[in-house]
Amino acid sequence: MDFNQARSFAANGISYQPTGCPVAVICLDGSADEYLDAAMSRGRMPRLQAISNAGFRGLARGAMPSFTNVNNASIVTGVPPSVHGIGGNFFFDASTGREVMMNSAQFLKCETLFPAAARAGWKVGVVTAKEKLRDIFASKLIEAGGIAFSSEKAMEARFATHGVEDIESLVGPTPAIYSGEASLYVLKAGVSLLEGDLANLLYLSTTDFMQHKHEPASTEALDFYAALDVEIGRLIETGAVVAITADHGMNAKQKPDGSPNALYLETELNRQFGTGWRVILPITDPYVAHHGALGSFAQIHLPAMHTGRFTLNGVLAWLMTQPGITEALDRNTAARLMELPADRMGDIVVCAGRNWVIGRTPEYHDLKAVEGGLRSHGGRHEEMVPFILSRPLKPEYAARARGDLRNFHLFDFALNGTIAP
Ligand SMILES: [Zn+2]
Repeated sequence: MDFNQARSFAANGISYQPTGCPVAVICLDGSADEYLDAAMSRGRMPRLQAISNAGFRGLARGAMPSFTNVNNASIVTGVPPSVHGIGGNFFFDASTGREVMMNSAQFLKCETLFPAAARAGWKVGVVTAKEKLRDIFASKLIEAGGIAFSSEKAMEARFATHGVEDIESLVGPTPAIYSGEASLYVLKAGVSLLEGDLANLLYLSTTDFMQHKHEPASTEALDFYAALDVEIGRLIETGAVVAITADHGMNAKQKPDGSPNALYLETELNRQFGTGWRVILPITDPYVAHHGALGSFAQIHLPAMHTGRFTLNGVLAWLMTQPGITEALDRNTAARLMELPADRMGDIVVCAGRNWVIGRTPEYHDLKAVEGGLRSHGGRHEEMVPFILSRPLKPEYAARARGDLRNFHLFDFALNGTIAP
């Protein structure tokens, strides 16, 4: 492969240098470090074990809330949600009175690093499991000569819209989205793009269906991570720098009988302070079979008419007495502490504990989806994620890694921070 054409580029205040080799950045959706530990300690991920020993393995702090869109948008821009604008899977637009999905590039307040990389001569390839993320990743990339497609809609990829087509003959049949194969397909596609010299700068983003369904030491999870390890090994064999993180962790959020350990906050607020409250659960997306729209983070909008009924401080104090609530912050404080875009938030932000989720009302949630038990994310307890590079770090990057390491600095580390063999 010829990398002489790949030049340095800059995006969102960060400059990226040519590496002389391909780069594969992987977001293993929902991969709490426990999943890697469980598999590695049983000898099921020998290739990841090897690169962890030879390169770098640590923990990084993700962006809050610990949700998929928020963190994927952060990783591909290199900046927090306060800059790129995507602070949840959806938000309530008070100016229009509508709840709006944020799965489209129109909500990005800055560019991803991909168009700049493509314009600098990199062959950029982006593969996501969920089609919902493709629009954000593909923004201005296809025009710049890059590739972006999802395993969910692999068969629909066309040159004009995806930068590539006939994916099924390259990688295999389009997998079902509610499967481990949907994620494996992402890594297999990455290998195919590298081997076919169709890409030399990859972003591979999987889906957390398996992690929502299976705990780390389960046979299903161990088999899944063993299969991921095979593909990670194939990526390494192409000569690429491989960099791995996650968008968020994953914890069990259920009672001993298996039912969700949920605080139905809209119900409780209406009961305590009178009606009109709106609780937004930004985990909500079209793929509710994973989690029934129950996560450990919520935005609360005050009732429109509430003069004399309560004070904001009174509500914040009351929230902190509710079971499972670990943080209750006014909008500006939350925007500052969690690096969130203040123009797309409620009046109050709350987080729930490790084994708690927040719901709206019991009727709002389709709990059939989580009858087998509930594992979910969104709060502080799913904020820390793996951060792995297949090569050792340069001294200045090793020093940064000892500080407040962030998952959305992974492209910076992968392109600028490792020592060539
Ligand atoms: Zn996720």
